[in-house]
Amino acid sequence: MNSFDAGIIGGGLAGLTFSIQLAKAGHSVVLFETHTYPFHKVCGEYISMESWPFLQRLGVPLDDLHLPRINQFRISSPKGSLFSTKLKPGGFGISRYTLDHLLAGIAREAGVMVLDGTKVDSVSWTGSSHEISAGNKTYSVKIAAGTYGKRSNLDRNLNRDFFLNPKPALSEWMGIKYHVNSDIAENQIELHNFEDGYCGISRVDLGRTCMCYLVRSKKLKEAGGDVNVLEEAVLMRNPFLRDYFYKYPSLYESPKAISQINFQKKSAIENHILMAGDAAGLIPPLSGNGMSMAMNASAMLAPLASDFLTGKLDRENLEQSYATQWEQKFSSRIRSGRLIQSWFGNPVLTEVLIGSANVIPGLAKGLISLTHGKEF
Ligand SMILES: Cc1cc2nc3c(=O)[nH]c(=O)nc-3n(C[C@H](O)[C@H](O)[C@H](O)COP(=O)(O)OP(=O)(O)OC[C@H]3O[C@@H](n4cnc5c(N)ncnc54)[C@H](O)[C@@H]3O)c2cc1C
Repeated sequence: MNSFDAGIIGGGLAGLTFSIQLAKAGHSVVLFETHTYPFHKVCGEYISMESWPFLQRLGVPLDDLHLPRINQFRISSPKGSLFSTKLKPGGFGISRYTLDHLLAGIAREAGVMVLDGTKVDSVSWTGSSHEISAGNKTYSVKIAAGTYGKRSNLDRNLNRDFFLNPKPALSEWMGIKYHVNSDIAENQIELHNFEDGYCGISRVDLGRTCMCYLVRSKKLKEAGGDVNVLEEAVLMRNPFLRDYFYKYPSLYESPKAISQINFQKKSAIENHILMAGDAAGLIPPLSGNGMSMAMNASAMLAPLASDFLTGKLDRENLEQSYATQWEQKFSSRIRSGRLIQSWFGNPVLTEVLIGSANVIPGLAKGLISLTHGKEF
């Protein structure tokens, strides 16, 4: 049996950043990731500036990567009405292929045992620790962190409510991503709405542009399960998207896709597993803030976990403090994101909102601030 202070399940942004902080604090850490780095992920790849200092502190050389800095926002309705505004403090663009790979390298250097290409099959609670089964081995860990993203085999194992009792309006979404070469301005992020979904477009590293959309799964069913038909029949009714889909062909042979995206409420602790990132709660992507929230949760959890591992905090207090801090920091952001997303799925409401934003200064800024937090 392999024993570690912490076992981290899922090597996305929450898991990798959590692992680095714990290893730097002197704890033994094993991290499991199903895929092998580097790999592409469905994500808009726009990161709010909130997490710039944190990533730099962890050792990501952001200044040397010459990343697009984004401070201008354009949004259109399904018919093509447009609103633009400055984004303050804005964000930056970096592909998940690059960022997750860089973080995995930093984690290894910090001493984390990074087991990529290794899927966790189950986690069980022994009464005082967890046992994690992965790749035909069992690992004993004092702390188990669930950083496995939006949805995983482990949600079924843990009988999580959102998994067992999905609410159709909040649980039937899918995401599609392309990388393209485009001439859209480097400092701009665009969000183009269409019936039952929206598509974000912004520049990332290596001169590429990320085009990523979220759509209700029923739209794909109506299109006979064919993504090309869906894009032609639904997305391209928006004149901006029609133009972009014709001008900017995908650099992938086929799009990256994920289904069964669920925005229902989740819990930050399950069977003594500390959940962070999307596994604890998923904010609708139109906020452009899920990645910063995932990293922010790890920054909040790391000192508490370290106090537990050094005997300064007992398990009950660790779990209570983390769950309370998580609620205080993120739950109202997620609620606001869900509400805003429900308005933008509706073509008439989107038209009204964009019209209102053009005549009410401060409306857009107010909505954006509801889903964002401070630098950490
Ligand atoms: C369409 C779409 C667009 C988005 N655009 C943006 C955006 O522009 N900006 C933004 O900030 N956020 C965006 N988000 C949200 C953002 O992608 C997530 O909030 C963020 O990736 C969460 O990080 P995480 O570490 O929680 O999960 P993830 O990054 O998803 O990482 C979880 C990892 O766990 C692994 N895993 C799962 N199960 C297991 C298992 N059993 N064993 C081992 N490994 C496992 C997975 O392979 C995965 O690598 C978007 C989301 C969607 C759906």
